[in-house]
Amino acid sequence: MTNAGAAAGITALTGLVGPGITGATPDRPLKDPEVSPAGAPTTTTHLSAEQSAVHRALVDEWNPRLEGKTAEEILDWVNTYVTGTVAVTMSMQDTVLAELVQDRVHDADLVFLDTGYHFDETYEVARKVDERYRLPLKTVEPVLTVAEQDREYGANLYRSNPTACCRMRKVEPLARMLNPYEAWISGVKRVDSELRKNTPVLDVDRTGRLKINPIVAWTDQDVEDYIEEHDLIINPLTRQGYPSIGCATCTLPVAPGEDPRSGRWAGSTKTECGLHL
Ligand code: SF4
Repeated sequence: MTNAGAAAGITALTGLVGPGITGATPDRPLKDPEVSPAGAPTTTTHLSAEQSAVHRALVDEWNPRLEGKTAEEILDWVNTYVTGTVAVTMSMQDTVLAELVQDRVHDADLVFLDTGYHFDETYEVARKVDERYRLPLKTVEPVLTVAEQDREYGANLYRSNPTACCRMRKVEPLARMLNPYEAWISGVKRVDSELRKNTPVLDVDRTGRLKINPIVAWTDQDVEDYIEEHDLIINPLTRQGYPSIGCATCTLPVAPGEDPRSGRWAGSTKTECGLHL
């Protein structure tokens, strides 16, 4: 693990305070973290009522029929039934979705949320993904750089208010990014957490877009097997005690046998960034 920010994050979420909280008084008042920076939408435009209704009908009809199907079969269904371009969200923890989608869904973009806080290893995986796959890789960034956010809201907001930080650096950029798409594919798995254990294969999000979870029934071992069988790009952190990788500032290694996601926002009650709620 080579991101220096990670070390700072380890102290942050175990209750210690950092320079942004106790440091010098800023020369102007800090902004309220509940108020996002101006200049960009914070939500996704709703699809039309007609299109939303079409998606709901697809979910009602096909969810029971796709349950138990393979990820490949689910993606073949996407290619047949979804019109328009599909966004494939990539955490760069692994590249399973890119591999699965590439030859099955012909109109798809890979999307990487660059929070500005990722591990160097994660950025390197993103670079290799761009080289290896034909699908366009679109990088989505928050309105503010990390330095600008520190200046506007106080240094290291992830320490004092990780929910606001995730909202401004993940949830809202994803919401803006989804505007041109009618569907998105995620790598959520039911085994990820208690909160995700009932995730369906197909869903309709709050904006009427289809959300497709092709590997929802996979186990962590299934992911490992697929990576090996297809010689996928490896994020080296997954071999160094990081089974679930988010921002370097908010991810700790996990001991063997521990809950794989327990290293995310460790020491706080936060378990989700909000992208999949
Ligand atoms: S995980 Fe969320 S709180 Fe932590 S740095 Fe990333 S965006 Fe901020």
